[in-house]
Amino acid sequence: MNIKKQFYSVCLMAMVTVSANASDKKVKWKMATTWGSAAVPIITASNNVAKYVEQMSGGEFTIRIDSANKTKAPMGVFDMVKQGQYQVGHTTSYFWKGKDINLLPFTTMPFGMTAPERMAWFEFGGGMELMTRAYEKYGILSFLGGNTGNQMGGWFQKEIKTLEDLKGLRMRIPGFAGEIMSKLGVAVTNIPPGELYTSLDRGTIDALEWVGPGMDIKMGFHKVAPYYYTGWHEPGAEAQFMVNKKAFDKLSDKNQNILKNAMRLASYRMYIEFYHMNALAWEQIKKDYPHIKVKTFPTEIMDSLKSINQELIEKYSTKSELFKEIVESQKVYMKKSRAWTKISDLDYIQDK
Ligand code: CA
Repeated sequence: MNIKKQFYSVCLMAMVTVSANASDKKVKWKMATTWGSAAVPIITASNNVAKYVEQMSGGEFTIRIDSANKTKAPMGVFDMVKQGQYQVGHTTSYFWKGKDINLLPFTTMPFGMTAPERMAWFEFGGGMELMTRAYEKYGILSFLGGNTGNQMGGWFQKEIKTLEDLKGLRMRIPGFAGEIMSKLGVAVTNIPPGELYTSLDRGTIDALEWVGPGMDIKMGFHKVAPYYYTGWHEPGAEAQFMVNKKAFDKLSDKNQNILKNAMRLASYRMYIEFYHMNALAWEQIKKDYPHIKVKTFPTEIMDSLKSINQELIEKYSTKSELFKEIVESQKVYMKKSRAWTKISDLDYIQDK
């Protein structure tokens, strides 16, 4: 080989090496979400993570979002992330209560903390450490995924005046709150979201809970049910970004930080977007449907809900030491933070 040929050959090898290194550096992830592509603003948080990651990494780290429309497995997110089919998922922890009761309290608990109280607990009150421990055995890292804020108690066809009115009431209310309601004689039903409006309109069900005005208005429930009850069961529902730990460990320090900051920013955006959408939607509903009455369950019902909630917490606490530790940590933190909430925001709003 002459000198010239050798030179070209070295150059070619160098080029191949450079381009191989450049493509090695590109990290391509996939995110599965529990949400459909129209579930704004919650799907917005999934999309925002991808957007921020790409922006912050200068295009070196990208995440493809597969909504539930694509995966057809909204409740398969946990397993898909655990098995590594997806490196990341956007979902919510209480969906996995059937797999592991310890995962329930990381979303929200009836009569539990409000969104700011809960976020402070996660960041500064030991919540993140407990969540990390609960997910450790699944090879999953769990991060805050945006908060819906206080959710409404739901839409009812009839006013609920006594405990008797709840007996036999057919209501869509999933999860832990549904368990509580069923103990009061409510016939808890599980109807797919796409059929809820028709079910409420035709009287297949008498009541349902969804989220709050911002998401409820798109479902049209205000057109068919005149009573809108205030919330008790999801005072600050936190969504979740779950990350496959092996995949996370393979990321460079820089990309790990980019991902964590992107999730944090997307979570913050989701919380305030919910607030904004709720405010606008409620203004619209009040204007277009002035007959709608906002109601709060009477004390008799609230007291029963609280005592059943407590019974169930105690029941699960005897089954799992970690569950007991998590709910105890929340209880202690709520006591401190609620005292402050009362003399600050609550006092301010009541007085002004
Ligand atoms: Ca809800």
